[in-house]
Amino acid sequence: MTKVECPECGGEFEAESDVLFLFNRINCSLCDALLEVIEEEPLVLEAVDEEYYDSEDEDEDDEWEAE
Ligand SMILES: [Zn+2]
Repeated sequence: MTKVECPECGGEFEAESDVLFLFNRINCSLCDALLEVIEEEPLVLEAVDEEYYDSEDEDEDDEWEAE
């Protein structure tokens, strides 16, 4: 687990380190904002406007590893 800071609510929460790769999106566990990893080293998250990006969801790269 890696501690990350939410740019939306300013709170810190822990995320699995394997979801913190570039351009992946995670949800803040505190305010439920959708965040995107825009920098890996150092880790930088940016709040995503969910509605604005909604139409692009179909062609996003799915990098989740199958178990
Ligand atoms: Zn938050």
